[in-house]
Amino acid sequence: MDLTTRLDSFAGVGPARGKALARLGLETVGDLLSYYPRAYEDRTKVHSIADAPTEEAVCVSALVAEPARLSRIRKGLNLTKCKIVDGTGSAQVTFFNQDYVRHALVAGESYIFYGKMEVSGRHRQMTNPVFEREGKTRFTGRIMPVYPLTAGVSNNLLAGLALPSVENCAAMVEEGLPAALRWEHGLCAAGYACANVHFPADQEALAVARRRLVFEELFTLSCGMAFLRSRRSGAAGQVFPRREVEEFLPLLPFAPTGAQRRAMGELLTDLTGGKPMNRLIQGDVGSGKTAVAAYAAWLAFEGGYQTAMMAPTEILARQHYETLSRLLAPAGVRVGLLLGSMKATEKKALHAALAAGEVDLVVGTHALLSEGVEYANLGLAITDEQHRFGVGQRSALSAKAAVPPHVLVMSATPIPRTLALLIYGDLDVTVIDELPPGRTPVETFLVGEDKRQRMYGFVRKQVAEGRQVYIICPAVEEGEDSDLKAVTAFAKELAEVVFPELRVAFVHGKLKSRDKEAVMAAFAGGDIDILVSTTVVEVGVDVPNASLMVIENAERFGLSQLHQLRGRVGRGQWQSYCVLVSGNHSSETRERLRYFTQTTDGFKIAEKDLELRGPGDFFGQRQHGLPVLRAADLAGDTRVLKEAQEAAEKLLEADPGLAEPENRVVMGRVKRLFAEDGDIFN
Ligand code: ADP
Ligand code: MG
Repeated sequence: MDLTTRLDSFAGVGPARGKALARLGLETVGDLLSYYPRAYEDRTKVHSIADAPTEEAVCVSALVAEPARLSRIRKGLNLTKCKIVDGTGSAQVTFFNQDYVRHALVAGESYIFYGKMEVSGRHRQMTNPVFEREGKTRFTGRIMPVYPLTAGVSNNLLAGLALPSVENCAAMVEEGLPAALRWEHGLCAAGYACANVHFPADQEALAVARRRLVFEELFTLSCGMAFLRSRRSGAAGQVFPRREVEEFLPLLPFAPTGAQRRAMGELLTDLTGGKPMNRLIQGDVGSGKTAVAAYAAWLAFEGGYQTAMMAPTEILARQHYETLSRLLAPAGVRVGLLLGSMKATEKKALHAALAAGEVDLVVGTHALLSEGVEYANLGLAITDEQHRFGVGQRSALSAKAAVPPHVLVMSATPIPRTLALLIYGDLDVTVIDELPPGRTPVETFLVGEDKRQRMYGFVRKQVAEGRQVYIICPAVEEGEDSDLKAVTAFAKELAEVVFPELRVAFVHGKLKSRDKEAVMAAFAGGDIDILVSTTVVEVGVDVPNASLMVIENAERFGLSQLHQLRGRVGRGQWQSYCVLVSGNHSSETRERLRYFTQTTDGFKIAEKDLELRGPGDFFGQRQHGLPVLRAADLAGDTRVLKEAQEAAEKLLEADPGLAEPENRVVMGRVKRLFAEDGDIFN
């Protein structure tokens, strides 16, 4: 047996199981060894019936006192019961729909049962325990791995395959870390880590194994990001003409803030420097990133290059299209719009214009990545709200050009530095840390259900003053969780009962994009007073006349998300407000929400969010586009992440191409880790 031995050659793995395993990506022993448990069951301690703790699953050694009895309760429900005894007492074991147990448990034999012991009065019982014959145990007496599963693959199957695999092959696993690095960071060897992550000798061995695997994974990832960055900066880039910021300013309807001007200055240096730009502009909502991007697009135009700007939603793309047309058309820039929902003929016309160089700036959604989009001369690729796009998509936009274009990424999500390094590790970062003048911070309040009527009164008052209002609900339809405000039902109630005199409309992600667009356009045009919505308005939408943001079930949202939502108001000249409505009384929740009412600094809020909830918010649904991580849990492993990042930077500095013999294995891993992201290395 070695790492290439196929799992379907194991006894007990037929073609059906082989296929089910393949669905998990498990075809060989090597695959299985790098498929890590998601949890463990400590089966090291064996208890007697009377002494078994009752709050968690435990092992109990006992004798089967009588033949197991099978009884059919009704169609589809069979119970198998038997009595077990030891010197300390007796207990009943019950199995649901596991008819084989009747023959598997032999009266008069001893077994180790693993499960939860329930006690009611003098009665003890276990339901659906797993069991092994005393003296023939494989898994009891150990720390047992619990693997992520799929249909047709049980944990016992995986553990049963992993055990001989580990015993025979753990030592063959490739050592992916240079020896000096392992020594410096106190990391155990690959073989030890492999053996102990599957079947830990004890909790300490597990911690040592996990630390190494997590480090290795984050280190590889960090190397990949650092490598991308260093490699890009080596290539030649298009040179845009040196047109100073002052020449551009007359196109803007306002004077730029110091931070905007600084960002423009950095862009000018990048775009005229002869190397391809890879820059992230991070700026809080409303900090004015669009104007900065417009400057870059204008520079491209002045040099005879095209610009593509990709936004995550049609609403946003349309809005950018309008803003940029207004700003840049007077300078002669021809601006186009490309959306997935456009008619085929419209798309074709735009494709032709792009290919012929008759459009200078195209704004669009993912549609920009589709086949048929070709450029005459793409010089600049801009993506907005980057964390919604993957690394792969970002590079796909650039890949549309014959010569690699400059890349500008804009994000309104303040991200703590450690995470930013990971997600944006291949980019240079500019932070816009200043809001346009005249903005008064949004005043934020936390109210309970008892203040609902007052809150409605406030809504009326804002509308009476000519303002508009967002009301955010956590759900679309009333469903399982009936405590949650749902957009459709709540909008109806507001329109018919609470505000019959006002214009109420709703929008959510399940609407057709055309309908969504229509509602958003009406809201932006002032034809709607109150917009009831899910978080679809979270990203980038700009309606300066909206001055009040009400968030229902505020406890349901993370701080970063609340911050995004609040950023939808306070964009105009009026004092704006955010009201968090929450009936939740847990002190943690109230503290979290109260913190939010007192802080408007997005970075501070992001740090707090990371501290309270882990990086789930930042890393939701793989939107970050990072490769799948198998060992690392970014919620718990930020310390190791930092260490790994520093180690990666140091290694890349010493050996930028990862070409030294001892680093080749690292390079191989980096390539494999990013393999899913296709052409990222091309
Ligand atoms: P974001 O950084 O969230 O993308 P936008 O670029 O949409 O912000 O700008 C938010 C609003 O602020 C827009 O209405 C924009 O016209 C306005 N704005 C941007 N910069 C300035 C400035 N320097 N002075 C005044 N208003 C500005
Ligand atoms: Mg924006």
